[in-house]
Amino acid sequence: MIIEYFKDFPNIVAGITTRKFGNCSNKLIIPNQIPSFHQQLIDLYQMDSLTTAKLIHTDLTLNINTDDLSLNADAFITNQKTQLIAVTTADCIPVFLYDPITVTVGIVHSGRIGLQKKITIKSIQKMVQDFKISLTNLQIQIGPHICYSCYEVGADILKEFNISCPTEKGYLPMEDILIKDLLELGIPSQNIRPSNYCTHCSLDNDGTKKFYSYRNNGEMERMLSFIGINK
Ligand SMILES: [Zn+2]
Repeated sequence: MIIEYFKDFPNIVAGITTRKFGNCSNKLIIPNQIPSFHQQLIDLYQMDSLTTAKLIHTDLTLNINTDDLSLNADAFITNQKTQLIAVTTADCIPVFLYDPITVTVGIVHSGRIGLQKKITIKSIQKMVQDFKISLTNLQIQIGPHICYSCYEVGADILKEFNISCPTEKGYLPMEDILIKDLLELGIPSQNIRPSNYCTHCSLDNDGTKKFYSYRNNGEMERMLSFIGINK
């Protein structure tokens, strides 16, 4: 029901809910109420709160310690303990950031538009600015997203990424583009952990779809990707 990440770092918890955990769409949230699927994660990981975002494909990252949380953002960073920060995704990429030296974390929602706006790079630069992290220490987990073979897009979209496409349609390698950006920024390749799952085609042991996919299910259903620092 939850795929956990960074298990080799006991200071933090991180993971993504799967379809069997249930729908975690922000559309289910009633104002001023903690939804049951947030409370479940807060209880499971002994955290005090969960902050999530409106996710409208901005390039804005909020430091939950200091920034105005009423702003529309697609990424969060923090060095506070017991505060889960989270983003919902279907086919977009959730990116998990952890610096073990300063013990700071980040979570990013990067779809195709986020990739264009380089939101992950901007989030990392904000971690450098706000928490004085070093790029060579930062650990990055790329979460489940729609894979290259499943992500057919128009030639116009590929052109935006400088990918030539002689036919009307082609395939967009989101993970490759993200990794290239990370390497260009100066993240060591051994610190980048690839996803290994596709939200569109990965199956569970029982043969059912493992994730919600925008291309399979449309707008309504989402997984929740979260990260937080233990007490
Ligand atoms: Zn796929």
